[in-house]
Amino acid sequence: MKYRWIFLLAVTTVLVLSVAASGVEPERNRYHQHLEAADKPPCTDHDESVFCTHLPLMEITTDGPVPGPYLQETGAVSSNVWAVSNKIRNYEMVAASVRYFDSETENNHLSDQPAVEERAMFRIRGASSRSFDKKNYLIKFTEEDMTHSLDVSLSGMTGDDSWALHGPFLDKSLIRNYLCYNLAGEIMDYAPNARFCELFLNGEYMGLYLLTEKISYSENGRINFTATDPNLTVTSYILQVDRGAVDPRYAMETFGSNSYQTRTKLRAGQGHIEIVYPAKSLTQRQHDYIVSDFSRFEKAVFSFDYNHPDRGYRRYIDTQSFIDFFLINEFTLNYDAPGLSTYLYKDVSGRLKMCVWDFDAAFDYYRYSEVTTETFRIHNALWFKYLFKDKAFVDQVVDRYADLRKRFFNEDYLFQYIDDTVAYLGPAVQRNYEKWGYSFNPTYNGVDYDYLEPESRNVRSFEEAIQQIKDTITIRLEHMDNHLDRLYTLCHESMNKRYNHQTEAGGA
Ligand SMILES: [Zn+2]
Repeated sequence: MKYRWIFLLAVTTVLVLSVAASGVEPERNRYHQHLEAADKPPCTDHDESVFCTHLPLMEITTDGPVPGPYLQETGAVSSNVWAVSNKIRNYEMVAASVRYFDSETENNHLSDQPAVEERAMFRIRGASSRSFDKKNYLIKFTEEDMTHSLDVSLSGMTGDDSWALHGPFLDKSLIRNYLCYNLAGEIMDYAPNARFCELFLNGEYMGLYLLTEKISYSENGRINFTATDPNLTVTSYILQVDRGAVDPRYAMETFGSNSYQTRTKLRAGQGHIEIVYPAKSLTQRQHDYIVSDFSRFEKAVFSFDYNHPDRGYRRYIDTQSFIDFFLINEFTLNYDAPGLSTYLYKDVSGRLKMCVWDFDAAFDYYRYSEVTTETFRIHNALWFKYLFKDKAFVDQVVDRYADLRKRFFNEDYLFQYIDDTVAYLGPAVQRNYEKWGYSFNPTYNGVDYDYLEPESRNVRSFEEAIQQIKDTITIRLEHMDNHLDRLYTLCHESMNKRYNHQTEAGGA
């Protein structure tokens, strides 16, 4: 009886607190540049010929030419996606000097005192985006010796040596990654932090970029877990699911791939797992440990005991993290996930969590095919195929969606977020399109810039690009509202499931 009163008291307290909180802006879990950055007055220090921006400004000067995107440049440029992706990507780096101007209250100019001025190694990064005129880049800060890595903090983000410079080109709205990383960062433990900036490379203005944390371990942020110790066999780790490791030292064959449970579920060239942390210090014993540790999860999930409380998947994964990963990628129609651009990480004494990456083609923006908003896809890929056999997992997915729908998966929230972001970018959008605006044309200088097929899907202005995201959000939420419960068919009791999957826990 006593406990019932304590329970009622607790419920009442929660209710009173939530009523008190309504009307007040809800708390945020991370820094959103467009909400936090100070308003800057128009600059009157100089004439129009001086480059001036309210955004952070990055200037990169390389010691030699920037190495090209591919090792084998064939003469003819093919518009065929496979011809592009079969080219061998070039990972060669060039030494560079990086200056980063980031006044909190004043506009930024190349003649200002930089907030950061360091040496770095620099190269083009990305996969299919390598074929675009506006490239994505990787910066790895180094000591003056150009050998030892150097942790550098940019715009308040956790100090680290590796940074990605994402230059939206296919994404004509310019905001897909910013919007989705910050959405994921509100609902998941970690998503890459990102800041808009403008870039000068070797004296040339390159437009609007999104400076983004690479998914890596950092003591004070990014993925934060127990640091690796090369003297120990057991270790925390970060895995990347993508096209396969460039360096065979980091490649992994796991239970899932060896038993064709994961390989056969995806298109060729996807779903390869590689170790991204520990990196340089990775020992063979740690490599073996990671393969075996990850395989324990895969053996559990691909077994008849998949939903057993002790022997099933829940012992190995942070279920909430997998659910959120599923929901955010399904909601945004980001179907590179989970076979490409997907990360998993695990503290040495924790459970596996998932992390998002790359929303360049989200909201129905794949180049070679329209994405129907009227389906779900990720439930059928990799480990999710078995997770969705568990009714308790589907219950959690449906509950979590209803929860997210109240705030983050909500048109009011998202449309306001998008409008505020566009307002914050202000004149930077126009500057970006003075440089890259020709790509709104079907063709320019004999090159085809209608990347999206069929042709009618290509947007012709920034405004159209923003509207396309909003329209897709509306349609997608409506579909999810009406059809998410169809996922229950995946865990439906059947003769086959009862025969194969009856367990002490799930076989009621
Ligand atoms: Zn100025």
